[in-house]
Amino acid sequence: MAARIIDGKAVAAKVRSEVAAGVARLKQDKGLVPGLAVVRVGDDPASLSYVTSKRKGCEETGMVSTEHHLPAVATHEEVLAVVHKLNADPSVHAILVQLPLPKQVDADAIIAAVAPEKDADGFHPVHAGNLALGRPGVRPCTPAGVMRLLEEIGFDPRGKRAVVLGRSAIVGRPMGLMLLAADATVTWCHSRTADLASEVGRADLLVAAIGRPKLVKGGWIKPGAVVIDVGTNRGADGKLVGDVEFEVAVERASAITPVPGGVGPMTVAMLLANALEAALRQS
Ligand code: NAP
Repeated sequence: MAARIIDGKAVAAKVRSEVAAGVARLKQDKGLVPGLAVVRVGDDPASLSYVTSKRKGCEETGMVSTEHHLPAVATHEEVLAVVHKLNADPSVHAILVQLPLPKQVDADAIIAAVAPEKDADGFHPVHAGNLALGRPGVRPCTPAGVMRLLEEIGFDPRGKRAVVLGRSAIVGRPMGLMLLAADATVTWCHSRTADLASEVGRADLLVAAIGRPKLVKGGWIKPGAVVIDVGTNRGADGKLVGDVEFEVAVERASAITPVPGGVGPMTVAMLLANALEAALRQS
């Protein structure tokens, strides 16, 4: 039997309407309008398109969004000065620095310079540390979106064998830690994993965040597993494809996210939720 297709667009719309309701309440109760500041450096077209959809989402939920665009040749000190200014601005409750940054800018230092209470991405080392220690804090948007999708389909990770493909600071690593916090038994795989197929074959829950089109063969999937495909890869025909061979996996999994329309829309929705949370913390 074919898997249930997890509709990320529908869940993201639900999250956005919850955020809009929260923004309206905050305005009514405290007269406060949450403000998200987006810092973009250079003219990378993908970054521009991400920033545009984040800003649009922000405005649709009733928040104020401002963009701070610096040229590709901006120095580390110039980017840092913008972050310091936003940290000190009381009308800015949440800050997002769009990655990647040009190579003359030390991205780790910029992320660490964002005031932790204003960090909309949850990338600050304080939040990463809290997550690693099993303490509350701001969670990175993409893995937070995956957790929300699991909740929506009624999948409880407790006691389940979860396999996460990828260990990046923004997706794979926090994903595994969030599943651990939800009592899953977690395995991380990466480019040095000896036998990816057999690791995948043991997963009740598979989260693929590698960035290699269809690297995960559908035949590897354990029958009945839940498959979350974070990968967004441009195929030769210009279409988006995931990390998982969807056409085969859909026949084995019990539920699966499509690409596009699965995890992607959740990332922006969870960013808006993080921005609202930041405003609530500071109100
Ligand atoms: P990344 O920083 O490039 O990390 C990729 C990870 O995959 C690394 O941990 C790497 O292992 C591992 N890997 C690479 N080749 C592998 C292989 N052959 N077998 C097993 N593991 C392998 O990428 P990322 O930023 O985490 O993003 C991953 C994917 O998710 C990309 O397609 C990206 O576009 C997508 N993404 C989507 C969203 C969304 O909203 N849908 C958000 C963020 C990212 P090593 O650590 O050993 O190098």
